[in-house]
Amino acid sequence: NAIHVFVFLHSSGYTPEFIASVMNRLEPVAMRMEIVGGMNNCTLINDTYNSDLVSLSNALDVLNQQNQHRKKTIILSDILQSGKPAGELYRDVSALVEGQHIDRFIGIGPEISAHSELFMNGALFYTETEDFLTTAVQPSFRNEAILLKGSRKFHFEMIARVLQEKAHRTVMEIDLNALVENYRYYKSVLPRDTKIMAMVKAFSYGSGGYEVANVLQYNHVDYLAVAFADEGVTLRKNGIHVPVMVMNPEKNDYFLITEYNLEPEIYSFRILEDFSNYLERNGLQQYPVHLKIDTGMHRLGFEEKDTEKLITSLKDDKLKVVSVFSHLAAADEPANDEFTTMQIDAFRRVSDRIQQSTGQTFMRHILNSAGIERFPSSAFDMVRLGIGLYGVSSFRQDKLQEVSSFKTSVAQIREVQSGDTIGYSRRGKAEGNRRIATLPVGYADGVFRALGNGRGTFMVNGHAASVIGNVCMDMTMIDITGIPVEENDEVIIFGKENPVQAVAASAGTIPYEILTRISERVKRIYFRE
Ligand SMILES: *Cc1c(COP(=O)(O)O)cnc(C)c1O
Repeated sequence: NAIHVFVFLHSSGYTPEFIASVMNRLEPVAMRMEIVGGMNNCTLINDTYNSDLVSLSNALDVLNQQNQHRKKTIILSDILQSGKPAGELYRDVSALVEGQHIDRFIGIGPEISAHSELFMNGALFYTETEDFLTTAVQPSFRNEAILLKGSRKFHFEMIARVLQEKAHRTVMEIDLNALVENYRYYKSVLPRDTKIMAMVKAFSYGSGGYEVANVLQYNHVDYLAVAFADEGVTLRKNGIHVPVMVMNPEKNDYFLITEYNLEPEIYSFRILEDFSNYLERNGLQQYPVHLKIDTGMHRLGFEEKDTEKLITSLKDDKLKVVSVFSHLAAADEPANDEFTTMQIDAFRRVSDRIQQSTGQTFMRHILNSAGIERFPSSAFDMVRLGIGLYGVSSFRQDKLQEVSSFKTSVAQIREVQSGDTIGYSRRGKAEGNRRIATLPVGYADGVFRALGNGRGTFMVNGHAASVIGNVCMDMTMIDITGIPVEENDEVIIFGKENPVQAVAASAGTIPYEILTRISERVKRIYFRE
């Protein structure tokens, strides 16, 4: 929009200097849609910044993707400046809403209220946002997805505040658009028709289980993979219906696996036998499984020398092999490329042999994120995309978008005198008079203790501030001397301005560990631009 305005003014004869001076006064418009946890186990889709028919239709789509709730509610304000006569406008709105599976409609504003007869039975109307908030018989909200969509002047942020789950001010923000962009980037690198299995193990690398799975499902991901059966059960209970592979199927979980239509990884003769017996006892046949081959990672899997025995063991109809796969140990390290090539060759040999002898057709896959970027010609039928989806690449970081930001805000600021000490064991020492900010986040939230005593830096108002003293369980102190900071200002632990790779390096670890260690007590906020 700003560029259109610029071009219009320029072609109308205004000088670039003049236009630059007035454009400086433009305020950025907050346009993003947020998905957050609400009271009483609700999910709140907060889209309170603009309202028109197109954005309403998009928002209804997002509402319908919230498969974790059966019940769907929309709270909608008057739509301003549509250019349509009110009667026609609200007939269109009503038709849009009727076309979706909405259970409850709440309209706020004089115009929408005046057209209440166009809406479903039982719809509620209020002329002002205040009326809705102060009404004696407030509608109750429980276990449902609620779309809040209002024109700016209706101040729906007041409703959002009431409906939101109470949270600490430390949050992990997850940019769902960025996630989808990263997914598309990896797809673009791969040969056409290569399937993608997205790794959503460990709470989607810390980014949240079913929310991420939901977006991937909507974008036609072929497969999902989790580490344990209960992670798969959570996905199923929240409306995820794409196939799910379970990498560590434990004996006690076989029941959950078949009950919830999950597909186990079979990596040893012990589990092959156990699971076959279980299927036999339960009268199940042709159950989908994935065979894991160890080609050099030496973690889980059948070894090449066991191939013939494996083929013999597969000769009954209880198991249906849907895929045969292996895992690369060092696809991200050029120094190990010879080893990687050896793994790929071994995988091809073993999977070819299984194919020939059993006559079964199955998919083959070996590439992880780094493998996709560095060995795309060995994609076989499917790849297993993990860390790259979440915005981290050791190869083409420039192609990826940052997905998560871990943020908090300043709880208290104090001045300390030269020689004072800060925090436990008096490990932080003020050299000269310093200004110190205390943050309500600590190692229990996932701020590594290894970042203490100057090793880690966080971003405050565009400046880097280093951690001073030891990181505490729920608090961390940073040195903000010379930086303009006030209490309540936002602090970015990692995110766009402070890449998770840099934080991982300071903590002496890898981004995977930083991401997956963010505690569940840190609220996740999902948004789309
Ligand atoms: C986690 C995992 C992946 C994904 O690895 P990334 O490096 O995150 O892409 C792929 N395959 C298996 C077996 C895994 O455990």
